[in-house]
Amino acid sequence: MAITKPVIIAGAGPVGCVAALRLVQAGIPIILLEGAAELPRTLRASTFHPPTVDMMDELGITAELEAQGLICRYYQYRDRRTGEIAEFDLDVLREDTKHPYRLQVEQYKLTQLIWKILERDYAHLAKCLLNHMVKGVYQSADGVEVLAWEGMQERLFEGSFVLACDGSDSAIRKAMAIQFEGFTYPERFLVASTEFPLETKFDRLAYVNYVSDPDEWLVLLRTPSVWRVLIPTDPKIEDDSYFLSDRWIQDRLHHMAPHDADYPLAHRSIYRVHQRVAKIWRRGRVLLAGDSAHMNNPLGGMGANGGIHDSWNAAEKLIRIHHGEAMDPLLDLYDRQRRTICVKFVQEHTINNKKLMESKDPDVQRKRQAEFMRACSDPTLSRAFLLKTSMIQSLRDAAAIT
Ligand SMILES: Cc1cc2nc3c(=O)[nH]c(=O)nc-3n(C[C@H](O)[C@H](O)[C@H](O)COP(=O)(O)OP(=O)(O)OC[C@H]3O[C@@H](n4cnc5c(N)ncnc54)[C@H](O)[C@@H]3O)c2cc1C
Repeated sequence: MAITKPVIIAGAGPVGCVAALRLVQAGIPIILLEGAAELPRTLRASTFHPPTVDMMDELGITAELEAQGLICRYYQYRDRRTGEIAEFDLDVLREDTKHPYRLQVEQYKLTQLIWKILERDYAHLAKCLLNHMVKGVYQSADGVEVLAWEGMQERLFEGSFVLACDGSDSAIRKAMAIQFEGFTYPERFLVASTEFPLETKFDRLAYVNYVSDPDEWLVLLRTPSVWRVLIPTDPKIEDDSYFLSDRWIQDRLHHMAPHDADYPLAHRSIYRVHQRVAKIWRRGRVLLAGDSAHMNNPLGGMGANGGIHDSWNAAEKLIRIHHGEAMDPLLDLYDRQRRTICVKFVQEHTINNKKLMESKDPDVQRKRQAEFMRACSDPTLSRAFLLKTSMIQSLRDAAAIT
């Protein structure tokens, strides 16, 4: 059946925007409903893995995004105790991807770019509405109705399918009473960013670095304008303002790299970390994707990337339905492919990654660094490691699920 009624996408984060552009490029009409009055500019994901960049390339937006970002070919695991640096070169994936590097660019640049393209080039197929907070969905045998609030006014939108890309607090997931199973870590994470050239403080710093020592671990990420430092906090202290204070942040940064003055701070925020997966990702004509379907700790940058892989998969299923394939088997396949991968790979990998990074056991730390050193110096091991961490393997595994 050709899809003539619009696919309604709730949420214009990276996941909703990618789905929207993919669908209109296939000739399918969409309505993109964003609850906020303007596209959120919060500093969240800033790493896009090679297969995600391949997808952006298919959308025709890689050049424009790369012009606003940084190409990160190498990334590192650093042990401050021994001074060892395990550096991985993503170029070993050149046969596996057209883009053997991570693209460091803030997620809001992706959403702003796609929104602009939708309004400029696809106005005949795409209705993009800000300030429309989705509240509920009604389904019938041949369509959906979505209730949204525009300020205080209720509006009803008719469509063919719904993609719930409305984030971790998903109104649609809640309205459909879908359980969000998993747990929340007791500690919060602090992200501080500084314009200070931290590369002057370290030998050969890459744009993405996982750093550990016997007492603490942290992640150091470069964006075009700042260095971002991600640090876990002490779960015994409840008060966020303690960790958000200049003193605490300066102490952590000075512990990381001594300096004779305070570091300039451009931005700071603290957030909770969850490992959760929705119990089902499809109900009738509604599909969950991105943070509305799953959340994980940000180590390894798999949240937005995994979410974009969901919306890519969901859009592909809808395009096949548009070209005449039967709806039910394809929508069920979406659930099987993406949910299975999420549980079996992303959740497992991110949970283990965190355990490994935070362990204070010297034996675990030595073994961990030794494994990284061995893997990065052997092209075969290196490729196997990078296929996993860059999420190419999980896409292949998903495609193999029938
Ligand atoms: C500090 C930090 C660093 C991170 N770094 C990375 C990284 O490097 N790489 C990575 O892959 N991931 C990273 N993540 C995770 C990543 O940010 C999320 O996984 C990603 O934003 C999920 O995208 P999304 O589109 O599903 O949801 P969101 O980005 O949350 O977007 C949801 C959108 O829906 C809108 N919305 C919400 N409710 C409604 C409603 N009822 N109706 C209409 N609109 C609604 C919101 O305003 C928002 O625009 C990081 C997260 C944090 C907190």
